[in-house]
Order: sequence, then structure tokens, then C-alpha cells
Amino acid sequence: MSENKGVWVYSEKYDLALEMLGKAREIADKLQTELATVLIGSGVQEKANEMIKCGADKVYLVDNPVLDYFQAERYLSVLHNLAANYKPEILLIGSTKNGKPLAARLATRLDAGCVPDCARLSVDDQRRLIGERITYGGNAAAKVTFKTLPQIVTVPSRAFEKPQPLERNGQLVKLDVKVEAPKTEVVETKPLETSSVRIEEAEVIISCGRGLEKKGDKAMLDELAAVLCGQVGCSRPLAEDRKWFSEWVGLSGHKVKPKLYVACGISGVIQHVAGIRDSKVIVAINKDEQAPIFEIADYGVVGNIYEILPALKEAIKRQLQ
Ligand SMILES: Cc1cc2nc3c(=O)[nH]c(=O)nc-3n(C[C@H](O)[C@H](O)[C@H](O)COP(=O)(O)OP(=O)(O)OC[C@H]3O[C@@H](n4cnc5c(N)ncnc54)[C@H](O)[C@@H]3O)c2cc1C
Repeated sequence: MSENKGVWVYSEKYDLALEMLGKAREIADKLQTELATVLIGSGVQEKANEMIKCGADKVYLVDNPVLDYFQAERYLSVLHNLAANYKPEILLIGSTKNGKPLAARLATRLDAGCVPDCARLSVDDQRRLIGERITYGGNAAAKVTFKTLPQIVTVPSRAFEKPQPLERNGQLVKLDVKVEAPKTEVVETKPLETSSVRIEEAEVIISCGRGLEKKGDKAMLDELAAVLCGQVGCSRPLAEDRKWFSEWVGLSGHKVKPKLYVACGISGVIQHVAGIRDSKVIVAINKDEQAPIFEIADYGVVGNIYEILPALKEAIKRQLQ
């Protein structure tokens, strides 16, 4: 029998850690094992209680002023120390810009496997974790399992719902772990000119493609987005070629999961669709009825965005009055 026991959850992004706890609870119950979270930072102890309410049996807390912001080597050394000592069977790590390399580096240190970006997770009857991830530019889903322990996966934002907090008891384990000195140093950070809300978090996205003729016409989308309390996104050429936006949606851009995605003048080739296929409802507006976006849209409007968008905005405003 293996000495590795328990399911662990870690993300430096607190909301994502809570989302993962719901799924991790399900897995831990199926394996009849303990669910623990790792909480790393400075002055973060107050978060432990909510983690317990969201399903954790145990919270390993490493609270140290040198950990007040994410620094890869420091956080890696803490997580490695804990995982090497307590030997979890499964480790779910938030699939963020920091979390993905952290998971890969941890797996290397532990000589374990690591599967990134698993939006679905299950366990088979041999206790093996099975992670499902989109591959081949969004054309296929691969199911991957493990030959080694611990089984490490990264989980993207909003793959799982945050559980309802319940009144339950759990254990807080405060640890004093030696933090390795970093081998790199941040020389300077500059804020990027990006929208204040992350597009991955948006519930409504009005997105435009090369059907938009001039940069100024973006106002049409801003207005519709304002009425629907949403955000504006775009296909890659509008950001990369025309430089009208700084970021885009798709395979090489942001993967989004809104309740409503309105694709305006976007053809819907696979690289774009790979980033929007988890949207709950997709509405496409395109003047070409053969455009591939209509194959995945829940609702399609064949027409000119310059006529449809202002009319749609007015109609929605009337409904909301
Ligand atoms: C490695 C790689 C990665 C890539 N990653 C991404 C990615 O992450 N995201 C991404 O978006 N792309 C990505 N691309 C680019 C992708 O292949 C397409 O070139 C791009 O998505 C096309 O953008 P589009 O739909 O805006 O433009 P087009 O394909 O030119 O489509 C414009 C659409 O607008 C319609 N239209 C024109 N005028 C109007 C009008 N007035 N009213 C209504 N409809 C109108 C047209 O009928 C057409 O369907 C990637 C490409 C590569 C090679």
C-alpha cells in the first residue's frame, strides 16, 4: 500500500482554491481520505476558516512576512517541503500564470507526473486520478492518468463551482517551514494597460473581429456591453495586427467562460473557438451565413453588425426599462 495519503488543494489565487475545494471534496470522499489545503502568505490565517467551511478537513498554514507576495522559488520551497513531508496522494494546483510553472517545478522535484489545465477530474477504481484537458487546438479532449504519486494537476478558473460554505470543523496546522532564498530578483514591475476586470471573470462578453472597420466603432460594442454589464473582447487580429486592443480571446489568448458570449463580425475559426467553447450561451452576428461561428453558436443573426448592434442595444434597453 502506498504511503501517499490525502487530497490537497493549493492556489495563490484564493477564489480558485475555494472553487477547487468542491471538486476535491468529492474526490476525497470517493477515496475515503482527508482533504487538506495549503495556505501560504503573510497575514493569511483568517482565510483558513472559510476553507474549512468550503470542505477542507485540514489547513496547512505557512504564514511568514517573506511570503507576502508570490515569488516562485520561495513558494515552491514551501510547497515542496510540505508535500515531501506529508506525502499527499493527489494535489490540485490552480492553473494561473504562477500556478502552472509552480506545479511543473514541484512535480520535477518530487519526480511525479503533472497534467496541466484539467477542467474535468475523476478517479477510477484503482484510485487513479483522471484529468481531462482540451488538446489539438481545441479539437479533442485527452484523458490523462498517472503512473506515479503524488498525482499533480492544475485546474483553470471556473472549471468548478465554489461550494456553499457549511458550518463544519477542521484542523488548522501552523507550520514553520524554512523558506529557500530566491535565485531570481524582481528588478521592476510596471502596471499594464489592461481593463480593470479580468475578462476570464466576465459573465457577459461582447467580442468583435475583423468585421469591425475602424477603431472608433468599438464604441458600439462598449455601449452594448455597458447595457448588459459586460466586457468587450476581440479576436486576435484586432489586438495583434491592428493594435486596437492589448489582449484577445482564443487558443493563444484568454480562455473565457461567460454566461453570454456575443461574437460580432468574428468568423469563428478553431483558434478563436478554442477559447470560447465553455461559454454558456454563444450568440453570433455575421453577414456571411456560411461563417463557421454559426456551427457552434446557440443563436445566430445573419446581418451587418453596424445595423444589428445598435438595434440590439435599443431593444435590450427597452426590455430593461
Ligand atoms: C497559432 C495561432 C494561434 C491563434 N490564436 C488565436 C486566438 O487565440 N484567437 C483568435 O481570435 N485568433 C487566433 N488566431 C488567428 C485565427 O486563425 C484567425 O485568423 C482569427 O481568429 C480571425 O479573426 P476574425 O474572425 O476576427 O477575422 P476573419 O476571419 O477575417 O473574420 C471576419 C468575419 O467578420 C465578418 N464580417 C465582416 N464584416 C462584417 C459586418 N459588417 N457585419 C457582420 N459580419 C461581418 C466576415 O463575414 C467574417 O466572417 C491564431 C492563429 C494561429 C496561427
